[in-house]
Amino acid sequence: MIKKIDHIGIAVKSIDDSVPYYEKALGLKCEGIEEVADQKVKTAFFNVGGVHLELLEPTSPESPIAKFLEKNPHGGVHHIAFNCEDVVDSLARAKENGVLLINETPKIGAHSKKIAFLHPKSTKGVLTELCQDGECCCG
Ligand code: ZN
Repeated sequence: MIKKIDHIGIAVKSIDDSVPYYEKALGLKCEGIEEVADQKVKTAFFNVGGVHLELLEPTSPESPIAKFLEKNPHGGVHHIAFNCEDVVDSLARAKENGVLLINETPKIGAHSKKIAFLHPKSTKGVLTELCQDGECCCG
């Protein structure tokens, strides 16, 4: 079951160049910067009323974000992530309904969340991430 929108992923060329816009022009507060080696990205998070913005900067030319930036040189909205009670259940449900999965089994993303992506070919063009909170002491 999907509980809420967890975050909106936004591809940026540079986190250092982008954080001041969100902090100064919009008055949001950056909650932290974290590198996710598995996804070859550096991330910065902003809490907007419980829904987060996740800025994504590629750390390698092979990063999916680097490929996105080749097609969208100014960056832009990259994916929407839904927070699920059980990501394995939600993946199975999507698959049963004919959705192509990018990840058949969940991987570990930022904040130790279990994450998995659905293919935009089957999601009406929106790259969709399903995620589940990790076993983190800070909740
Ligand atoms: Zn994400």
